[in-house]
Order: sequence, then structure tokens, then C-alpha cells
Amino acid sequence: MSYGFFGKVLWVDLANDDFREEEVPDKMYRQFMGGYGLGCRLLYERMLSRIKPLSSESIIGFFPGLLTSTVAPYSGRYMVVGKSPLTGTWGDANSGGTFGPAIKACGYDGILVIGKSKKPKYLSIIDNTTTILDASDIWGKDIIETEKILKKRHGNSIKTAGIGQAGEKLSKISGIANDKGRIAARSGLGAIMGSKNLKTIVLNGNKRVEIFNREKFYDLIKEHNKAVKIKPLSSMKKSFLGKMFGMVKSMRRLKIGMINAPDLMRTIYRNYGTSIGNTISAETGDSPIKNWSGIGMYDFPYEKSVNLSSINITKYKVKEYGCFSCPVQCGAILKIPELNIEEMHIPEYETCCAFGSLLLNKNLFSIFQINDICNRAAIDTISVGATVAYAIECYEKGLLSLEDTDGLELTWGNTEAILSLVNKIIRREGIGDLLADGVKIAADKIGKESEPYAINSLGSEIPMHDPRYFESLAFSYAFDPTPGRHTTASIDFAEIGSYDKFEKKVTLPKKRKKNINKKIEAQVITTGFHQILNCAGMCMFSTSFGPYPFIDLLNALTGWNDNIDEYIATGLRIQTLRQAFTLREGIEISQNELPDRVVGLPPAKKGPLKGKTIEYKDFYKKYCIRMGWNPENGYPLKKTLEKLDLEFVIKDLY
Ligand code: SF4
Repeated sequence: MSYGFFGKVLWVDLANDDFREEEVPDKMYRQFMGGYGLGCRLLYERMLSRIKPLSSESIIGFFPGLLTSTVAPYSGRYMVVGKSPLTGTWGDANSGGTFGPAIKACGYDGILVIGKSKKPKYLSIIDNTTTILDASDIWGKDIIETEKILKKRHGNSIKTAGIGQAGEKLSKISGIANDKGRIAARSGLGAIMGSKNLKTIVLNGNKRVEIFNREKFYDLIKEHNKAVKIKPLSSMKKSFLGKMFGMVKSMRRLKIGMINAPDLMRTIYRNYGTSIGNTISAETGDSPIKNWSGIGMYDFPYEKSVNLSSINITKYKVKEYGCFSCPVQCGAILKIPELNIEEMHIPEYETCCAFGSLLLNKNLFSIFQINDICNRAAIDTISVGATVAYAIECYEKGLLSLEDTDGLELTWGNTEAILSLVNKIIRREGIGDLLADGVKIAADKIGKESEPYAINSLGSEIPMHDPRYFESLAFSYAFDPTPGRHTTASIDFAEIGSYDKFEKKVTLPKKRKKNINKKIEAQVITTGFHQILNCAGMCMFSTSFGPYPFIDLLNALTGWNDNIDEYIATGLRIQTLRQAFTLREGIEISQNELPDRVVGLPPAKKGPLKGKTIEYKDFYKKYCIRMGWNPENGYPLKKTLEKLDLEFVIKDLY
């Protein structure tokens, strides 16, 4: 009997309206866990290399984490995997909510889709019956409308994940949304679903995984939950926090991290979500300003950014909610009477920054509107914001004319023009068609002079955290096998979430901030641990929420009894396979370079990031040596592949 997983995945062939179950050997879970680890293992073997991501042969997979569907706190995420249409590298994106547990409830550890249907279809797995159904009546509808129609048809307890209008139009910055607009946004994977004419997946089941040591598993959770304190904020504390926001100017020189403050972190997340960073990050230098060319305290000072503060946003909160099995519940539903919006998700920090400080836009209502239309269309707000910033700068520099922009005055902070452009991008209308695949593809069309304004890493628009503030982000933005992402393994982010305080079995070398070899060692441990966190389905915020019996829970669930070193080795195997996938696609990720602005070339003359230029290439070389990869080209060495039981990769890379 298998514990913690079902030992099978579902394959769906849309070209032949066919599906079949495949048994997956136990060893594969032990070596690749679940989530994108298992997804990468299966896609590496089954998908031809160098195929076009939007071709019929391309495979898209949906994988819940190994802990997902159990009541282990923060473990409810699923991952979408495939070859990224945006970067051509390994692609993955993840989302919380309730869809991940729903995959497991149908008795599968993953769903993989190949082929292309001639007409719009949706996949339904309800009460053990799998069918491929006509989607012509929901094609063209947004995420919320689609979910509503399908609930009416199949019952309120179904869970869905699918594409909106952006994915249907094959936008390479489109994602896949569940739970009324929570998006697995990055890597452009929505375009793969669109290319297959697959609108959505509808699930309803009641299966449960077996737990190896049920008593211990629940005891561990009980003990953890006892220590978790989350309180609603009293009006006194709210007013204190309000005053604290007023002091953000004095925080400019501080490195903001909530190390060792798990109670506060949980309480802040519950009450404000990630939008807590909106004003603070603009002052400290964490938020990029004016398409990465500005300085918060001068170009988007507190007097402007305060409009976007979490206090202003949460005034509209009507309901708190969260992901499956999460005690923190950092999500919220807002009602905005001024805009006739009855119900929408609270905008995340990334969205507020991408349409706020990045565009010098202080209009909160426009950000509410953009958040709502992007969630409904299932398009990546980081990428859309970066693309609008690029277009504004092209207009400012005379590379786009008023005629090119369909008459839109694309100037900084021009709320109406920004809103119109977002709508055009979603609909691929006029200039929107030129911009709908992100900045790199747009720059290829508009011309070389526009490239410095296209802030991306191998095509992926760079998220809303400046490496001059969190230095190791330069390393992960440039060199993770899915480039241009802030949620991949980087040591500074792990310090904030403090991996060794989250799972006490993790040992990070002491004095790592000052000694480069220790820092590299810490980065390698972080890389391995980060992969297993993801592949277990854990939310990245969880590592800020205090001690958690992560390894003990995994062992109680599966019966594996592996130690921390063995789990970290599993994480390094997963990362090495992700790396091999990207290399097999012919992408020399080791040669990648970040845009000058992102790493401080030339360094800023004033402001909190004054004088900073970030070195990341030499760090990568040293990291490669420690990973057992060739430091010149990032290829895993043959002996490393043998050690990690990845011999099947050797024929592809050598
Ligand atoms: S902290 Fe927020 S995003 Fe993370 S699992 Fe909980 S509700 Fe979901």
C-alpha cells in the first residue's frame, strides 16, 4: 500500500478524446516528491525536447504537492508545469485555494494533458467519472462567469481551474485560475491550455490518501496549531500600525525582515495580506519605481504611495478567506461600491507595485479595477504591469507614436491610459496585440533601441523586488531554470522566512553573510530545501510563521523516515532535473544577463540604493561548483547525475 499518494496519474489526450490512468512507481515519489518535482520527472521523460510549447505534442500537467489534501497547515498548493511559452525554459507556476486538494480527492497525484482538441472542451472528473465535454458555451467567458455556469451545471461543490480570455488568445503572459481568480500566473502556461482548446478542468471527488502514522501526524499538527496565535487587530493596534506607516520614511535605511516575529507575521498577514508592503517597500528600495529607473523617495514618495496603503485597501474588506488547511487565511474579498464591484480578491503586493510605483500611478481605484479584470482574464499582473511600463517608456522616448498606441497618451501615472492599455492587452486589440506576449517579444518587434526598457530575464518579466535590496535575487532571477521569478530559491528571501527557524532540522552555516564559501553552502542548502517545500505543496509565506515540524510530517505521512540531509538531496535532484530540462531545450542559462537597471549599472547616485551594483555571475560559478555542475556552462557533471540517480539525463546533455 502507498502512503501519502495514490501512485497514479491521469493522462488526457485531447486529440483523440481519450484518457488513461498510469501507475507511478513508489520510488519516483521518494526521489521527486510531488508537485513540480514529479511533474518535471514525467515531462522530462515523456515530452519531446525542443518542441514548440503551443504544439499538439506539448504536455501541460497539474500536480498537487505531496502534503496537499492533508490537514497539514499551509500545504494546499498545486503546480502547473510545462515548457514555458514565454521563456522556452522549464516552466512552472503555482496557486493556493482549493484546486490542489481537489486533484487528490479525485484519486490522482497529477493530471497530464497532451494533444489538441479541434473545438473548445473542458475536462470533468466528477464522482469517479471522467469525461471530455463541449466548452463552446463557456469559451470567451471570464473566470468568474465560467465558474458560475459550471457550478450551476455540476453542483456547488465542484472545483475548477482554467483559462480566461487571455489564455484563449494565446497570450504568453497568461495563467490558469482557480477559486474565482487565484492564478498560477507565471511562465505563460495559460497559453498552453488555450492552444489545446482546453477551457477548464472541473473536479469533484471524495478520495483521501492513506497516512502511514496517523496518530503521530495528527499529534504533530495539533501541537503546531496550539502554538499558532492569530488575533484580529484591535482598533488600538490598528491605529498604532497606521502611525507606523507614517514613519516609513525613517525605515529607508532599514532592511525590513520579520525574523523571529512569527506571531506578528501571522497577525499582519491575516489582517492585511501582502499589501502590507505597498508603502514600506516603495521607501526602502525593495519596490522598483518608474520601470526600474526611479527612486521611491523622490519619484513615488510616501505622500503618493500612502494612497495604496494596506489600511486604505482593507477598508473594503468584506470577508477573510484562505487556502485549504491554512490557519492564517491571508486572503480577503473586497467589495468596492464606487466601482460597482461586488466581490473581488484583495490585490497582492506584486499587483499593487506593478500598477503602482512601477508606473507612478497613485490611483487605488484603478489598481482595484486592473486587479479584477486581470484575475477574471487570468493574466499575470507582474508581466502586464512590466509590459505597460515598457510601453510608457517607449512612448516617452519616441519609439511609439500616438498613432501606434491607438491614441493613448502613455505617460507615467496616466490612470485612464493604463487601464485602457490593460484591456487592449487582454483582448489583443490594436497595440494590445503587440504587447500581449510580454516585453521581450514586443521589443523584438519594436526594435533594439527599446530593449533597455524591456525589463525581463530570458523573456520573463522581472517581479517587484529589487536585487539591490535583496541581493541574491539577482542570482535567482538570472539563473533559476525558470528565470525571472522571486519565488525561487534565493538566500536573502530564505533569511526573511528563516528556513532554519521554520524547520529546526535545517542547519545553515554560521557567519554566512561575511564568508563567501559559507554563503554558497547556505545557498545550496536553501536550493534543496526550497524545492521540497514547493513539492510538498507548502505556501512560501509559511516559513515566516514560526517553527513547523515539516520533516516529521512528511515522514509520518509516507513512512519514509528520511533525515533532513536526504530530503535536501531530494531537493537538489529536483533542481538538477529542472536545470537539465532547460539545458536540453538549448537554452544556455549560464550566459543569461539581467538588464543593467536591475543590478545597478550604473549605480544610483542617491536614495536608499545609492552606490549599489550587484555581482551575481561569479556567485553563480561558485554555486555551480558546489552543486556539481560545470561552472562555465551550468551543465550538471556526469558524476553528479550518476550520484543523484539521474543517469537518464546523460544521453541528452553529453
Ligand atoms: S498564508 Fe495565505 S497564501 Fe499562504 S496558505 Fe495561508 S491563505 Fe494561502
